[in-house]
Amino acid sequence: MKRQALICKDCNTEIFSDTNMVMLKDAIWKKVSDSFEDAICDKCIEKRLGRNITLSDFKPSSINGVEMIPCNQFWLIYKGVELNGGQK
Ligand SMILES: [Zn+2]
Repeated sequence: MKRQALICKDCNTEIFSDTNMVMLKDAIWKKVSDSFEDAICDKCIEKRLGRNITLSDFKPSSINGVEMIPCNQFWLIYKGVELNGGQK
């Protein structure tokens, strides 16, 4: 399978699923992006939003009992956000 690089359309930074990619709720994404297929990194999403990304912006996922989309989970870990109040 060919790996397709995702490049942020605003800052041309490569987007990686474990550091600067987030999946937002469709309604939020529609507001932030110019089209559904857009690739925008977390920082530029926040710039476009005019505020920080919060948990409630994330697209919920309940597939196979997984409550969060992996890239969102990675992003929270990368950002050091504690979900369960526990220590890493
Ligand atoms: Zn960007």
